[in-house]
Amino acid sequence: MNRFPQSSRREFLKLSGVTACSALALNLGLNQSAEVHAAEQKPRLLDCHLHINHYDRSIADTIQHMDATGTEKAFILPLETGEGGVLLRSETVLHAYHQHPDRIIPFCQTDIRQPDCIERLRAYHKLGCRGIGEQKEHLPLNDRRVEAVIAFCDEVNWPITIHFQDGKNGYNQGLAEHLETYLKRYKKVRIIGHAQTWWANISADVPPAEKSLYPKGPVKAGGLLDRLLSEYPNLYADMSAGSGFGALSRDEGFTAGFIERHPNQLLFGSDCPCRDGQGENFKGKCYSTQLQKFVNRIVSDSKNRENIFYNNAIHALNGA
Ligand SMILES: [Zn+2]
Ligand SMILES: [Zn+2]
Repeated sequence: MNRFPQSSRREFLKLSGVTACSALALNLGLNQSAEVHAAEQKPRLLDCHLHINHYDRSIADTIQHMDATGTEKAFILPLETGEGGVLLRSETVLHAYHQHPDRIIPFCQTDIRQPDCIERLRAYHKLGCRGIGEQKEHLPLNDRRVEAVIAFCDEVNWPITIHFQDGKNGYNQGLAEHLETYLKRYKKVRIIGHAQTWWANISADVPPAEKSLYPKGPVKAGGLLDRLLSEYPNLYADMSAGSGFGALSRDEGFTAGFIERHPNQLLFGSDCPCRDGQGENFKGKCYSTQLQKFVNRIVSDSKNRENIFYNNAIHALNGA
């Protein structure tokens, strides 16, 4: 607080022999330590799962969501076939990236059932896209066209975000049977697991998809995710959406240990469609704000928090 009006402050500095230069240095020092302090309190945040067009959100609305939630950068994931309810073209993501190159990390996605799919992905690679996602089409995980895009990511050193949802009308069905085959075969690609069936496998006890895609209650230790994350460092877990939050909050004691076992493979993400960081247009809640609070409460190690909020996503993006 400045206790002197400007003129008398100058007078005071002159009288007390403090030069303008050292006064400036003093001010800078104070500002810097204030910034460092603020940075300590609020780690950098990268949202690994965000869409435009979600509940008709515009590019400006999406940036507003990032501002409101303290999000520095985000992987923006297109969904070109719109099979999951959101239709977002890779071109729109690239357009948004050119408007906000310091905020948006553009991913691409295109209909993998089309014969020109790999050619289109090569074009998106040249145009500056950094990964594939969200891969969400009605195809089983062991379909050769799914394998072709994983192999392409392996070739160009990209990550791929996959929506795993077993059952009729699901996407990439067969995680338990087929994911490990790809992890063994492709060592460069980073596979980022997302959605209901991915997170149901946090527990050794997974109900059939027809019965529940959002199992609740205590987690049974020894789940598939624990084993795969331990054995394959190129596998990452996307914590976004109701599926991520539901699985992580169903048994907090288990989750604390799960995070401690895989602190470098968990990625903060929201998949939030709201505009204001408060869920005004979406169930009255914001997935980003909700998960930030949860991680801050449950992860006691500040280094682990920084990794989950930012650094792990950068590793998943760039590879080893
Ligand atoms: Zn999504
Ligand atoms: Zn939100």
